[in-house]
Amino acid sequence: MHNMKKSSLAPGFYKLNPKERLEFIKDFADLSDDECASLQNIGSLPIDVADRMIENVVGAIPIPLGVAVNFLINKHDYLIPMAIEEPSVVAAASYAAKMVRDGGGFQTSSTAPVMIGQIQTVGIKDPHSAKMRVIQAKEEILRKANDQDPVLVSVGGGAKDLDAKVINTTEGLMLITELHVDCRDAMGANAVNTMAEAVAPIIERVTGGRVYLRIISNLATKRLVRAFCVVPKDSVGGKEVVDGIVNASAFAAADPYRAATHNKGIMNGIIAVILATCNDHRAIEAGGHAYAVKNGQYTTLSMWERNADGDLVGSIELPMAVGLIGGAMRTHPTAKVAMKILGVKTANEFGEVLAAVGLAQNLGALRALASEGIQRGHMSLHAKNIAVMAGAAGKLVDAVAERMIKERKIRMDRAKELIDEYKATGKI
Ligand code: NAD
Repeated sequence: MHNMKKSSLAPGFYKLNPKERLEFIKDFADLSDDECASLQNIGSLPIDVADRMIENVVGAIPIPLGVAVNFLINKHDYLIPMAIEEPSVVAAASYAAKMVRDGGGFQTSSTAPVMIGQIQTVGIKDPHSAKMRVIQAKEEILRKANDQDPVLVSVGGGAKDLDAKVINTTEGLMLITELHVDCRDAMGANAVNTMAEAVAPIIERVTGGRVYLRIISNLATKRLVRAFCVVPKDSVGGKEVVDGIVNASAFAAADPYRAATHNKGIMNGIIAVILATCNDHRAIEAGGHAYAVKNGQYTTLSMWERNADGDLVGSIELPMAVGLIGGAMRTHPTAKVAMKILGVKTANEFGEVLAAVGLAQNLGALRALASEGIQRGHMSLHAKNIAVMAGAAGKLVDAVAERMIKERKIRMDRAKELIDEYKATGKI
């Protein structure tokens, strides 16, 4: 957590230029000159670092890094680093966080950071009694698992419990043993996979079967984060907008086609932060969407209701397998600075901030949809992108974009015509 005297409320932040914005962030997060320089040096991932991160490296692709402002979570101010190629997302998050701030900010909570590791056993003659024998061998299995990671155990984590289930498959009955591993400040995939592999021989001995898969589950139902907020109806735009948002939420909750897009909006925010901090976004997406269908029908991860005063009340709950340690977040120089800006001290705090960001992003999208429609906010940056794609550069980008917006013709062919027109007249 940062110095509590510093506020993330930053009206007019969007009007500053990138250097001026960085001054604000530098002060908020106590960044050094080197850290600031690394943020604005777009090629700041050295090729040898990249080459150690993945295979067959030939380069790196920069994605814009923005900072969402105004976030107040559990009475603490946060600035939110977001890496994303899509326009409007950072603006919408900041705007929504401001509305939520009017109602006292976000409140969050989370479960312990427990991940599930699965061990698949096949070819067991008596799978149901084998399940009992595995459960009986719990102490031995947990001890073996914890022997693999004394560091994790020393910080209070480790394999804490075990469960087993028999499932019916096209290949017959299988016994699935599940290790419950408290991963503390790690995402945990390496830690859990190592443990799952180590206990497999015990499970084969106890069951008489053959172990195949030994791997973490991304449906992290034991590692949930939650956030909720109350937004005063006047801050959100009055009773009609509240009604529109509540109706949009009800539509999404009842219809998977809408729910997928509703949840995509939530992920716009969460994944942008996950990318900025070099966490595993596939794990978060897989876990979130699987959790959204936990009751048999795909539905929303968040809900929007009215309270007795007619104010808007939002809540969200989803699995959140994120870490501060391990993976790529300690090797990527920009991710390290992004983490420092975020200023979270534990993986749980990180996960809770992500829940709040997801809820804010959702509110931003629903408010726009329920009032002026989503396109207005998208228009200006979209028009600029089209202008650039059509070959505009420098001042021509803004001029062409403005004309296209005025004419309501944001199209490549029109952009090309306008570029030719400006070039012919020599006005720009
Ligand atoms: P890791 O193994 O690099 O680091 C975790 C280790 O750090 C722990 O095992 C522990 O020994 C040590 N540690 C030190 N201090 C700790 C603390 N305070 N809290 C917790 N651990 C501490 O990383 P990981 O989190 O086990 O694995 C994450 C990586 O695994 C990600 O890069 C992810 O992409 C990848 N991965 C994911 C999947 C999947 O999601 N299905 C599968 C395989 C690999």
